[in-house]
Amino acid sequence: MITTPDYRALLETAIDQARIGLAEGGIPIGAALYHNDGRLLGCGHNRRVQEGDPSIHGETDAFRKAGRQRSYRDTIMVTTLAPCWYCSGLVRQFNIGTVVVGESVTFAGGIDWLREAGVKVIDLADERCIEMMERFTTAHPALWNEDIGED
Ligand SMILES: [Zn+2]
Repeated sequence: MITTPDYRALLETAIDQARIGLAEGGIPIGAALYHNDGRLLGCGHNRRVQEGDPSIHGETDAFRKAGRQRSYRDTIMVTTLAPCWYCSGLVRQFNIGTVVVGESVTFAGGIDWLREAGVKVIDLADERCIEMMERFTTAHPALWNEDIGED
């Protein structure tokens, strides 16, 4: 029997990562790549500020930490915030089957595009994620715009 993963439990890993990023002085976005069977493959957080590297988003960090996987169809990308175009592209490129987002209120990213492509997108509308991003984007608007490629 295949049981549905507890998506809220998986989100906790991503939230922990976002909080680590915030404590490091970075952008508070965390992510985790899970297998459908509940195994954590890798997790990470946005490190644009910490490493001076604009390519390290939460999702790409988790993806890299997970190392090589033969197939991504049965994996779940869990992220505290809806994935940007760059990370949505990663999901499409590797056929990640499911995306769980903590919230899409402060930023909707590419979730409609992912849904149109047949990716299962679950939006948990988690209040803690919304509050963390709203607080951050209000306090650091320039840094946030830099991260999402807005002038
Ligand atoms: Zn991204």
